[in-house]
Amino acid sequence: MAKILCVLYPDPESGYPPKYARDSIPEITSYANGQTAPTPHDLGFTPGALVGCVSGELGLRAYLEGLGHELIVTSDKDGANSEFEKHLPDAEIVISQPFWPAYLTAERIAKAPRLKLAVTAGIGSDHVDLDAAAKAGITVAEVTGSNSISVAEHVVMTVLALVRNYLPSHEIAVRGGWNIADAVSRSYDVEGMHFGTIAAGRIGLAVLRRLKPFGLHLHYTDPHRLPHETEQELGLTYHPDAASLVEAVDIVNLQMPLYPSTQDFFNDAMFARMRRGSYLINTARGRLVDRDALVRAVESGKVAGYAGDVWYPQPAPANHPWRTMPYNGMTPHISGTSLSGQARYAAGTLEILQSYFEQRPIRDEYMIVAGGALAGTGAKSYKLD
Ligand code: NAD
Repeated sequence: MAKILCVLYPDPESGYPPKYARDSIPEITSYANGQTAPTPHDLGFTPGALVGCVSGELGLRAYLEGLGHELIVTSDKDGANSEFEKHLPDAEIVISQPFWPAYLTAERIAKAPRLKLAVTAGIGSDHVDLDAAAKAGITVAEVTGSNSISVAEHVVMTVLALVRNYLPSHEIAVRGGWNIADAVSRSYDVEGMHFGTIAAGRIGLAVLRRLKPFGLHLHYTDPHRLPHETEQELGLTYHPDAASLVEAVDIVNLQMPLYPSTQDFFNDAMFARMRRGSYLINTARGRLVDRDALVRAVESGKVAGYAGDVWYPQPAPANHPWRTMPYNGMTPHISGTSLSGQARYAAGTLEILQSYFEQRPIRDEYMIVAGGALAGTGAKSYKLD
C-alpha cells in the first residue's frame, strides 16, 4: 500500500461545490502538435467540475482507495509543522500544483526516503529541486500540454488589456465615471506593434499563432529554433538571444521554464535594453523577474504595463509590490487552472498514476526527471545548472 500526498489549493470561500456558470466544457482530444490529451481509464470526476481544490481531490480518491492506497489531500504546505511535512517521510508519491506549490526542496527530499514519484498536476516543475530529485532517484513527471492553451489565451487577453488600458477604463465605468480622456491617455492599438516571445515552446508558439490575426510583427527567441515552415507561415523574426529581442519589440512575453540559470533573468540590465514604454507579460514563473528591478522599471516608465499570474513565493505575501504597482494586470496564479485546464491536468495525473501502478511507462513527453537525469520534456526545456 502506498501513501499518496496531494497538495491542492484551498476550497472556494463560498463553499464547495461552487455554483457552476455553465453545464459542460468542450471535449478536447488532441493538441496542435498532434499529442493526444490524457487517456486514463475510470475517470473519477465530471469534466468541468472544480477538482483543483482540496475537496475536488483531482477526482483521484475512488481510484486510489480502490487499489488499497492511502490518499492524503491538504493545502497546508509551508513550514516544519505543516501537514505536508508531517506526511512526507512516509509518502511514495507527492502530487502538487504550480498554482499552490508544495516546494520540494533538497532539505525536504532528504526527509522523504520513500519518495519515488513527484507529479506536477499542471506544467512547470520548478517547485521541485530537480537536481536533488535526480540524485535521490525520484521520477518527476508533469502533464505536458494539458493547460498550454489555457495559458496562451491568458497571455493574449493581457496583451490586449495592457495595451488598450482596459483595466483602468473598466474601473472608471465601475466607479460611475465617464472620463474618456483619462481612460485613453494610455490606450493604443496593438496593430502594427512588435511582439516577441522569449521561448516558443508549446505555450509561446500558441501565443504567436493566436496573435497573428491582430496584425502584429512577431518575434521569438528559443534555443530550439522552430521549423522554417512555421517561421514563414507566421512571418517570424528569430533572435539569437533575449537581449536582441527586447531591443526590437514593444511587447515582451516571457515563457521559458525556471531553472537555476534563468532565475532573475529579467534584471536591471535586461530592463535597460527595452524600449521605453514596453509591456511585459509573464505567465511563466515569478522568479524569472527580479522583483524590485521590475518595480524600478515601471516607476521609470521603461515598462508601461506588466501582467501575468506568477509570483514568488506562492501564495504571494499581501505586501508584495507587484500587487499594487501602477499599470499592472496581475492575477493570482490562475491562467493554467481554468475549469477547462483542470479537466485535462487532473485526467493526466490519473494517467500518470495508472502508468506507475500498472508498471507501464509514463509517456515520454510527461517526463522531467527519470533515472537520475533530465528526461523527456525535461531534457528539452530545463537545465540543472
Ligand atoms: P515547453 O516545454 O513546451 O517549452 C519551453 C520552451 O522554453 C522550450 O522551447 C525551450 O527550448 C525554451 N527555453 C528553455 N530555456 C530557454 C531560455 N533560456 N531562453 C529561451 N527559451 C528557453 O513548455 P510550455 O508548455 O510552453 O511552458 C513553458 C513554461 O510556462 C513552463 O515551464 C511553466 O513555467 C509555465 N507555465 C505556466 C502556467 C501558468 O498557469 N501560468 C501553466 C503552464 C506552464
